[in-house]
Amino acid sequence: MTVHLCHSIPGYEDCGPGGLTLARLLQVNEIPCAVFELDRNRYNRSQGGSLDLHEGSAQIALREAGLFDQFMAVARPEGEVLKIYEPDGNLLLDESTGHGERRPDSFNGRPEVDRVQLRDMLIDSLSAGTIQWGRKLSAVKTTAEGLNPTYDLHFADGTTETEFSLVVGADGTWSKVRSLLSDTRPQFSGINGVDVKLSNIDSVDAKLSKRVGLGMCLTLGSNTTILSQRNGDGCVRSYGFMRLTEDWARTCGINWSRPAEAKQQFLDLYYKDFDQDSQDLILKADDDSVIPRPLYMLPIGHKWPHRAGLTLIGDAAHVMAPFAGVGVNVAMEDALQLARSLVACKDICSKTAVNTHERHLSNAVRDYEEAMFVRAEAYAKETWMYLNLFFHERGGHPMCEHFANAKKKQQQQAEAPEVPAKAVNVES
Ligand SMILES: Cc1cc2nc3c(=O)[nH]c(=O)nc-3n(C[C@H](O)[C@H](O)[C@H](O)COP(=O)(O)OP(=O)(O)OC[C@H]3O[C@@H](n4cnc5c(N)ncnc54)[C@H](O)[C@@H]3O)c2cc1C
Repeated sequence: MTVHLCHSIPGYEDCGPGGLTLARLLQVNEIPCAVFELDRNRYNRSQGGSLDLHEGSAQIALREAGLFDQFMAVARPEGEVLKIYEPDGNLLLDESTGHGERRPDSFNGRPEVDRVQLRDMLIDSLSAGTIQWGRKLSAVKTTAEGLNPTYDLHFADGTTETEFSLVVGADGTWSKVRSLLSDTRPQFSGINGVDVKLSNIDSVDAKLSKRVGLGMCLTLGSNTTILSQRNGDGCVRSYGFMRLTEDWARTCGINWSRPAEAKQQFLDLYYKDFDQDSQDLILKADDDSVIPRPLYMLPIGHKWPHRAGLTLIGDAAHVMAPFAGVGVNVAMEDALQLARSLVACKDICSKTAVNTHERHLSNAVRDYEEAMFVRAEAYAKETWMYLNLFFHERGGHPMCEHFANAKKKQQQQAEAPEVPAKAVNVES
């Protein structure tokens, strides 16, 4: 695979939101690229739940990718609405008050989209043949060191692709590309539990559907939570998460091969003091959807010394636990910033001697990395703060206090008198 900037500069990504966004942004700027993806096709596995795309990051990437209108056509602004319950069913916070269960007329900055819709939109935007499906990367090897290094990609089926001068690892938490840049591995975040999906909630249990509301519904107990999120296809995904050990799924005694019993055992063990509605979000979920899910993160501030010809975007660079809801936004912002750097590099290369091009490419990637390290660290700190609000001994109260304080601060800022511009001495 070759990516042409001014001469041959090859590249590589994977089929998550980060890699697909990068591929699209490169193609709209006439920089060819190839995507190697382990899935056999786009339908190979379930793509998970709903994602809110933020105005200042993912939405800008979609605008530059020429896909913003398509996104708006499928986005769900009502999905932003949050409800927080106590385990006994007492409602602590309800953002749907005011517009009930209607779709609001306007978007408020962070509309939701189903992951599968986002992925389809990005896949369909790429030139035919860009994605090579069923190519599971097993190793990246250096074939030439020094100022102009190149890399070979080795795949699990024994095939190779050779002499890449830029390899972008967008291969998620367990990235194979990362090991060439950093010895750091993702660590267990301290949070474990189960991930379930309740299909067609409106027809299965209309009362339960109302409990969830239009967007996200949290039931927060002492260090133990149920997070439920409505998706555009009528299902509700719920996560029963708490502070547990990494090996919990193996050692807890729950027989995961019998999911109907496993759900009940899980609830009996950890959710005895939660009301029936919150328990039903797990109990009534599809039996074939029950997945134990330990959550991993790279250390806050993870970085690596720049190495020419290799870089990472998205979870491969900075996987975080999902509690600030920023992972996909950071991944798409990485794609945006790296694409901008590579486009600027293409321009520089068109005006400079061929023997300087590898240096320009290396500088472009280094610029992206330095800015990304700072941005990712700030998001990782925010995520850690939210993790500790989700899993708190005082249940949902600290989170509600946090939102109330943030709102108060916003109001104070809006009401503060404008500071007059410094007077300019026009007499002198
Ligand atoms: C339970 C849960 C809920 C979440 N909820 C949210 C949320 O609400 N909002 C949000 O912003 N983020 C959320 N996230 C985080 C979000 O999913 C990630 O941050 C985001 O998907 C990262 O995108 P990515 O493209 O970097 O990586 P990924 O989405 O992980 O994509 C990586 C791609 O690489 C492919 N791949 C992996 N290994 C190989 C290999 N060896 N060879 C070839 N291909 C390979 C994979 O098949 C995949 O297509 C959540 C995460 C979890 C676990």
